[in-house]
Amino acid sequence: MTTALITHTACLRHEPPPGHPERPGRLQSILTALEAQEFRPLVRREAPEASVDALSRVHDREYVEEVLAAIPSRGIVHFDADTSVSPGSRDAILRAAGAVVEAVDMVMKGEVQNAFCAVRPPGHHALPDRAMGFCLFNNVAVGAAHARAVYGINRVAVIDFDVHHGNGTEAMFFSDPALFYGSTHQWPFYPGTGRPGERRPDHIVDLPLPAGAGGPEFRSAFTDAMLPALNAFRPDLVLISAGFDAHQDDPLGQMRLTEADYAWATDMLCGVAARHSARRVVSTLEGGYDLDALARSAGAHVKALMAA
Ligand SMILES: [Zn+2]
Repeated sequence: MTTALITHTACLRHEPPPGHPERPGRLQSILTALEAQEFRPLVRREAPEASVDALSRVHDREYVEEVLAAIPSRGIVHFDADTSVSPGSRDAILRAAGAVVEAVDMVMKGEVQNAFCAVRPPGHHALPDRAMGFCLFNNVAVGAAHARAVYGINRVAVIDFDVHHGNGTEAMFFSDPALFYGSTHQWPFYPGTGRPGERRPDHIVDLPLPAGAGGPEFRSAFTDAMLPALNAFRPDLVLISAGFDAHQDDPLGQMRLTEADYAWATDMLCGVAARHSARRVVSTLEGGYDLDALARSAGAHVKALMAA
């Protein structure tokens, strides 16, 4: 069995204002790294566009239409201080969500064992009716909803190791006990959710870590809390919000993870999938803003998927 790499050059054409950290070079650095010899076995697939119906499973249809209608023919339109669309954004945001839909299809049909979606913009801050934090559509949540609607999958888990809490995904999953959301993230930090000591249902597992936390703290959070909760949940499909901005070289976060930590976490999550989910794992890119650390981290992550 194999690992799929799903991407599209359209995702390079979503252009935030100059100097914005969520820039096309992020994806380019990952794609360049994945051209190395060791990644030759990847099954490469172009991401299709997600349909408005697929997006509307997790977003308000009016919001989906509002975002698509807002895309300018020139210049930039802002949704908030750090979230905007440019002329190339329509194709980018539809294919970023469409990649996860395609990955779910490939994994559910048994064409591949697991998949990595190298896409941008990221998605985990996008709320049902609001863009925020560089995110327009919630790619991973669209994939989770697609799996349930089309394949009759019951329990879907999203594990999010981005340095930021995925408030959008959590909001979409909160009231449905068959949707697990587990997050390690720096706290206090943007967007301010996922705070310690909050009362949460069993299928929402927030593991805030302080600035400066590194591999030992991250791995303890996984071993002591994330993995036991995930095994108790028994997911039918494991999705990963793979943000690499908790890396020690990242300019936005203050955590201290390394490529080895990402490989380890990937391996652990593939272990959960082997136990409960017929080894089905779909991962999608979220954050990560140091181009070299991002390329190395995504490479380590994909290598671990290939070895699973
Ligand atoms: Zn992030």
